[in-house]
Amino acid sequence: MDNLVLHLDNINKSFGGLKALTDVNLQVEEGTTHAIIGPNGAGKSTLLNVCVGRLKPDVGHVTFDGQELTGKQPHEIAQIGVARVFQTPEIFPEMTLLENVMLPAFSKRDGAFRMNAHHQLSSQAEIRDEAEHILEDVGLKEQMLNEAGSLSRGDKRRLELGMCLILHPRLLLLDEPTAGMSRHDTNRTIDLLKKIKSRGMTKIIIEHDMHVVFSLADKVSVLARGQIIAGGSPEEVREDERVKEAYLGGAH
Ligand code: ADP
Ligand code: MG
Repeated sequence: MDNLVLHLDNINKSFGGLKALTDVNLQVEEGTTHAIIGPNGAGKSTLLNVCVGRLKPDVGHVTFDGQELTGKQPHEIAQIGVARVFQTPEIFPEMTLLENVMLPAFSKRDGAFRMNAHHQLSSQAEIRDEAEHILEDVGLKEQMLNEAGSLSRGDKRRLELGMCLILHPRLLLLDEPTAGMSRHDTNRTIDLLKKIKSRGMTKIIIEHDMHVVFSLADKVSVLARGQIIAGGSPEEVREDERVKEAYLGGAH
C-alpha cells in the first residue's frame, strides 16, 4: 500500500442541518478500482462532488498525487487529471456523438479554441481519430454521426464515458455508470471498464449493481448515513454483518 494516490482526510459536509458526510477517510491505491456502495441518500454523490470541486467540504482535505484539490475550481481539478461521469448524463444533445467526444479535448484560451494544454495530440485530425477509436471502444462508432439526443439513456452514459476518456484522466470517478442499462449493456460497460483498468487508470465507482462491483472492484467501502461503516476486499465486505444489515439486507 505504498502508492496511495488519492487521500480523503476527515471529510465533513452538511447541507443546512443535514449532515451528508461525517469524518470520511479514504485512501485509494494507484491503478486500482475502488467501489463505494451504500443505500440511497448515504452521501455517495456528495463525496464525488467534493473530490471534483463541485462542493467544498466544511472540514477536511482531498489530495491527489500530492496535490491539494480542496478549494480548487472544477476546471483546475480537471487539469490535474481528474474526470467524472455524472449520475445524470451531461451531453450535448444536438451535436453528433463524434462532436461530443471531440469537444472536451478543446478549451478556449486567449480568445480562441485550442487543444487542451495537457493533451498529447497535436492536430484536430488526430483528435478526430482518437474520438473515433473511443467511440468504437464504448460501442457507439456506427452511430457516430447521429445526434446524441437520439441515444437511449444507457448509450448516453457510455457516450459520456467517452467524453471523459479523451481527456486521458489519471483518476476517473464514475457515479452509477450502469444505472438504467439493460444487462447486456451493463456487461459491455463492465468489459470497457476492465479494458480501461488494464491501462492503469485509477477509478472510484459508485454502484448499486453488486454484479458490477464484484466484477470490477479491488476494494470496496460502504457508506451509510454519511459515514464509512466498512471496507475491504469485495469478499470481506460481502461477509461483514454491519454491511448486510445496513445495505445488502435491505432492498437489494
Ligand atoms: P447518494 O448519492 O448516496 O444517494 P447524496 O450524496 O446524493 O446520496 O445525498 C446525501 C444526502 O444529502 C441526502 O440526504 C440528500 O438529500 C442530501 N443532499 C445532497 N445534495 C444536496 C444539496 N445540494 N442540498 C441539500 N441537500 C443535499
Ligand atoms: Mg447518488
